[in-house]
Amino acid sequence: MSGALEIDHLSQSYVDPYSKEIVTAVGDVAASIPEGQFVSLIGPSGCGKTTVLNIVAGFLQPSGGEVRVDGSAVAGPGPDRGVVFQDFALFPWMTVESNIAFGLKMRGVPKGERRNRAREMAGLVGLAGFEQKFPHELSGGMRQRAGVARVLATEPSIMLMDEPFASIDAQTRRVLQQEVLRIWSTQKPTVLFVTHDVEEAIFMSDRVIVLGNRPSTVQADIMIDLPRPRTWNQVQGHPEFVRLRAQLLTMLGVEDQDELNQNELDGPGTTNIATTSGTRKR
Ligand code: ADP
Ligand code: MG
Repeated sequence: MSGALEIDHLSQSYVDPYSKEIVTAVGDVAASIPEGQFVSLIGPSGCGKTTVLNIVAGFLQPSGGEVRVDGSAVAGPGPDRGVVFQDFALFPWMTVESNIAFGLKMRGVPKGERRNRAREMAGLVGLAGFEQKFPHELSGGMRQRAGVARVLATEPSIMLMDEPFASIDAQTRRVLQQEVLRIWSTQKPTVLFVTHDVEEAIFMSDRVIVLGNRPSTVQADIMIDLPRPRTWNQVQGHPEFVRLRAQLLTMLGVEDQDELNQNELDGPGTTNIATTSGTRKR
């Protein structure tokens, strides 16, 4: 078994492209994540969630600290970590099947085996019958299913997801959240899931790590003890869910989810002004 993730005192500074000043986005983020755990990373817009995920993926070298997978330091991207992007990242000129098989092709898996595996994965994510379609022929929800299937096909021990459902309508999002949990329970990869949606974080996770305003540190690390398997019907009225939602919203310094969404829409630039002046802190 594998997929233990050690996030060891990460920090990340950027040069602001406008002011040329050095901005520390990630102050000090640490977490020890055992294999198979589903962990959400939540925090205000611009606090460095994507930055942390990109460091774990190996796309970005941290200014300080280290990430270890099963005890080995991450030096770049690797097949042990699969990344699901928000914008699906499908190749528009490839069929669903070829898109799902792409990671396997890169690894030299023979054609027949790739095809079988891609079809199996398409079935698993509810895309049976759509294997020969192109991305533009699919809805947003279906494209994201294909994006998830492509990552799952390579059986990574760690899955990294950055707001994977952010551009999908609310109803489809709930369906996909349930689907991803169902699939996760069959393969049980370790998951690091970035979101700014409190309900999504609670619903999906074994554990929610709350980051504060930048330079971000871990404000809270909360275990979610709701029973699994979970469906929205069971979870949404559960007293523990209601309690956790109120607790997380308070921690994030907002009245409700709409306020968080608005901050996200305004973009990090706007939030940053509020962040540095501390107006969003309670
Ligand atoms: P989040 O995903 O939590 O919204 P990000 O990790 O995208 O936050 O960004 C954290 C902060 O770092 C933001 O203030 C953002 O503007 C800044 N930042 C991110 N990437 C870069 C970059 N490549 N160059 C300069 N600043 C960046
Ligand atoms: Mg982000």
